This record gives sequence, structure tokens and C-alpha cells, in this order.
Amino acid sequence: MSEQSSEQATNRFLDRAFALLGLPERVETALRTPRRELRVELIVHRDDGATQSFLGYRVQHDNARGPYKGGLRYHPGVDADHVRALASLMTWKTAVVGVPFGGAKGGVACDPASLSLREREQLTRKLVDAVGPILGPDQDIPAPDLGTGAREMGWILDQYMTGHGFSPGVVTGKPVELFGSPGREAATGRGVVTVLAAFLEARGRTIEGGRFAIQGFGNVGSWTARLLAERGGKVVAASDAAGGAFDGDGLDVAALAEAVGSGTAVPEAGIGEPLSNAELLALDCDVLIPAAIGGVLTGETARAVRAGVVAEAANDPTTPEGDEALRERGIAVIPDVLCNAGGVTVSYFEWVQNVQRYPWDEETVNGRLVERMETAYRAVTRYAADRETDLRTAALALAVERVVDANVRLGRLEDRRATPKTG
Ligand code: NAD
Repeated sequence: MSEQSSEQATNRFLDRAFALLGLPERVETALRTPRRELRVELIVHRDDGATQSFLGYRVQHDNARGPYKGGLRYHPGVDADHVRALASLMTWKTAVVGVPFGGAKGGVACDPASLSLREREQLTRKLVDAVGPILGPDQDIPAPDLGTGAREMGWILDQYMTGHGFSPGVVTGKPVELFGSPGREAATGRGVVTVLAAFLEARGRTIEGGRFAIQGFGNVGSWTARLLAERGGKVVAASDAAGGAFDGDGLDVAALAEAVGSGTAVPEAGIGEPLSNAELLALDCDVLIPAAIGGVLTGETARAVRAGVVAEAANDPTTPEGDEALRERGIAVIPDVLCNAGGVTVSYFEWVQNVQRYPWDEETVNGRLVERMETAYRAVTRYAADRETDLRTAALALAVERVVDANVRLGRLEDRRATPKTG
């Protein structure tokens, strides 16, 4: 689907930030290079008695600002290159939103829907056994991502604790009943809606009465939809891997979420008119919200976008060619590193509650999330205005500055300011 590898795409977005900052080439190389990569083979005993081998990955990109942090993805498209790109994205995301974590990512190349519950549990426990030595509450803290959720996080906690004793801070996105945080499930969607509201407000507009199209109706997409609808927004289209649904007056989001929650695919829910994913991306609406997989807005699909704004709820949904096409056409992009940072923000809150053994109530979590997202939004927009650049370049450059600063103070990178000028 993408015109080039995800790693190349991430590096091309980073190039723009590096160009703005004028960093020496060796610093750029250091910032692009993950500190550790682990690839493991996981052998699962299938229910029919056969054995099957899966490849699992954990990439730790940078930990100068805190323990490595990043989700675990179960998807057929997982490979070393993709996980590397997503790990780098986490380093910049945690820095944009100012939580004291570094960046990591992991995953298993598999189709989770084809695995039974027992097989999925076995796969997850084997993954923890294989990558466990580099995990830990102060080392590397996984979280849910595409194809994983609170249930997998519970298994990860149990498997990790078998060898390490009580350590709830080793993983976030856990069930609320199992040291998870209230508000974590909705956090990424709440963050998307918070940033979007601030963006629209700055242009004299509101969510109320706005028309939104959302690709992906899993954790992020469905919560974004629910929270937009709560604020009077019209979710005119939503989709999942099976296809989409459209209603010009706004879909009944609560009913759709209920149907999807009980296992029905979006086009089978009997809500709205059928719509393909390609049609959804090209829909005439105010805001297009990709909230599924990466690389969906390519040079070609981006040229068909008719929304005025793209809010990147998914990770790396736009290829560099797609980004260029959107820019040429004057379509504003709220970049993933800012737009979907609500998830890692509440993951940080969950970790704090685990480490301190002191739970917060949901109101506190939601209030602090909104505060942090608004602060990050203001910092990125101010940075973009000061340097006359787009929001993606601004967010990445701001993050790179913060990560470089931590690395310099740790003595891992030279301090350019202290280097005498030559020539
Ligand atoms: P999820 O597994 O809960 O949901 C994914 C949704 O995307 C499902 O509705 C699925 O059917 C749909 N989908 C999959 N392939 C598709 C395709 N080819 N076309 C259209 N739809 C497709 O995953 P999620 O946790 O909601 O994550 C969605 C995106 O948000 C991912 O890019 C993830 O990296 C990113 N993200 C998630 C979080 C989080 O807290 N869960 C945080 C930050 C970013």
C-alpha cells in the first residue's frame, strides 16, 4: 500500500525537521538508529495439534528521556522495518507530549483473527518469555496497539510477574480491574478530539455541527467517533477492514459501537448506507480521520481527499507523497505524533499510578489528559508559527530538540553549542 518502506517514510519526515534544525549529519544518523532490536521466533501449538512459527519483534529506539515505551502490534504487515519506524515515531511522540519516556515498538507478524483465544494467549506468553529480559517498569513498557488490547496486556503482566514478582508498571493499557487506569481505553480518542477541538477553535469553528469521516472503528476510531458525537459532531462515515457505512445526517455512533463491540463488522451492522474505504477517504466532509492502519493516504489517494483537514489518529497513515499532495492542495494535517499522543499520555498516568500504588479517579485522568494535550498543541502551533512551517515538521523538530537535549546532557551526543566554530 505504501509507496516506500515505513522506515524510509519516517526518515523523510524527519529530514524536514533535521533541515529546519541544521543538525550535523552524525547527530542525524545517531537519532535515526535504534539502540536495540530484537527478533524472536515464537512457536505456537495450534488447537488442531499442528505447530506454527511466528516472528516477533521489539525495537528500542531511544531512552534518553525515560524508559522505552511503545505498543505491541499483532498484524500480518508487521516486519522489522515497520516496527523500527514505529519505534522512532514513539520517541518523537513522547517528547512532543512531554511524558518522561523514550520510544519503542513491538509486534508479531500474524493475523490475530485467525487465532483462537487459547492460541493468542500462548503467543503472547511466548513473546513475553522471549523479549522479557529487555522489558521492565524502568526499562521498556509495552502497551496495546493494532490487534492487541487490555486482555493481552493482562497476560503480559501475568507472564512477566512469574519471573519478577509484583510489577504492574511493566505494561500499560491493562484492564482497569488489574491495575489499569480509568480513562485509558478512551484516551487516544479523547486526545484526538481535544487537539481537533483546539485546531478548529483557532479557526473560529467548532466540533458541533462539523462533519467527520473516520477510517477504522477499533479502539481509537470508535472512541473518537463517540466523543465527537457527544460534542455535537456528525460522524457521517465510519469503516473497518470489511468496509464502511455512510449517513449524511450523522451515523448512530452509539448503536454502531455496540454492534461492533459484539463482533459485527461495520458494513454488517445495518446502520447507514454501505461505503468502501476508498470512498470514505475521498468523502466530502470537514475532517478526515484515518484511525486504522499506516500508509493509506498515498500520493494517489491523497489527491482524492475532499476534507479540509486530516487528523492522523492512526500511526503513519500518510506517506511522504501523500503528505506532499495534501500540502499542495492546502489540506491541513494534524500529525500523528501530536494527534494520537493521548494514548501514551494516559499510559504514563497508568504507570505513575502503578509505581506509586496510588490510583486516580477517571475525572482526574481525563482532566490531566486534556491539559497535557492542549499544552502540546499550543507548543507545536507556536513552534510552527515562529518557524513558518507545517505542524508535522514543527512537532518533529520540537521533539528532536527535546531528545537531543536529553542525549547531550547524558553525554551521548556532543553539545554543538560547546563546539568551537571552525573555518
Ligand atoms: P484496533 O485493532 O482496535 O482497531 C483497528 C481498526 O482498523 C479496526 O476497526 C480494523 O477493522 C480497522 N482496519 C484494519 N485494517 C484496515 C484496512 N485495511 N482498512 C480499513 N480499516 C482497517 O486498533 P487501534 O488500537 O484502534 O489502533 C488504530 C491505529 O491507531 C493504529 O495505527 C495504531 O497504531 C494507532 N494508535 C493506537 C493507540 C491506542 O491507544 N490503541 C494509540 C496511538 C495510536
